[in-house]
Amino acid sequence: MPETAYFYDPAYNYGRGLPLKRVHGFVLDKARRVRDALVGVHGVAKSVFVSPAEPTPEELQAVHAPSHLDGLRSSKALAKAAELSVLAALPGPLARRAILTPQLRATGGTIAALRHAAAGGWAFNLAGGYHHARPALAHGFCLIADVAVALAAVDVSGPVVVIDLDTHHGDGNAVALRGAANVLTASLHERDAFPFPKPPSDIDHELPSGVDDAAYLEAVDRLVAEISERVTPTVIVYVAGTDILAGDPLGSQRVTAAGVLERDRRIGRWARELRAGLVLLPAGGYSEASPGVVAAGIAALADMARAS
Ligand SMILES: [Zn+2]
Repeated sequence: MPETAYFYDPAYNYGRGLPLKRVHGFVLDKARRVRDALVGVHGVAKSVFVSPAEPTPEELQAVHAPSHLDGLRSSKALAKAAELSVLAALPGPLARRAILTPQLRATGGTIAALRHAAAGGWAFNLAGGYHHARPALAHGFCLIADVAVALAAVDVSGPVVVIDLDTHHGDGNAVALRGAANVLTASLHERDAFPFPKPPSDIDHELPSGVDDAAYLEAVDRLVAEISERVTPTVIVYVAGTDILAGDPLGSQRVTAAGVLERDRRIGRWARELRAGLVLLPAGGYSEASPGVVAAGIAALADMARAS
């Protein structure tokens, strides 16, 4: 039975100190809403959530150039990277607290989650999966390449698969992890959605817009089958974006909440069959329904871990 671990801190939430709840569709307190749904709907004890430390400068510099990290100190650069123009008018410390601190703290959570998974456990980080961040580029709301930072910081004995089922291509991980020993990146994404261009992952499967549950789940199975022909992972890092949900403002798929739950269960069954450690990162998901759907997936995986 894999041990489960949950990572969360109030600092994961965006916009702290700002009188804003949403900015152009961006749910700022998504991590808190996931936590509240886990506790309120799924009966998870408040005491299980572990607050991670921020990564050290050395851990960040293992992936990111100092110039990238320095650039994130300016409110203008943060505004551009996060596509939140309102940030540009703020003093640097306020902008950093609103958007950079959450991603730094959640990157600490991804490191802690990977450490747990490297020991065979299943770990749920309530934010993270900033899969567009590259070593020298912040874009698509993603400032820190948390998965690459974690993989540089944690020794995993055996192959790691980063399977990215966010509706957007994981270009940041593709670039940051290119050539990384024992890491395979795989992405299933919308062909006609951000980013353009899409630098190749080890395996890329594209979907047209408007796919339903059946077509989507079939595509997930195909991707897992192709990964399985290449590698037997010790750890699966699951970038579990929920922007495939019908109605997501930044996605065009027609997957239902039940379809997302089934997707999460399939990844769980795959990890269980392989006795692999698992890291779940929520990544994108911008609809009001997203936090509840993330929580339902985590709860299902936790049940699966308990039952195995
Ligand atoms: Zn996305």
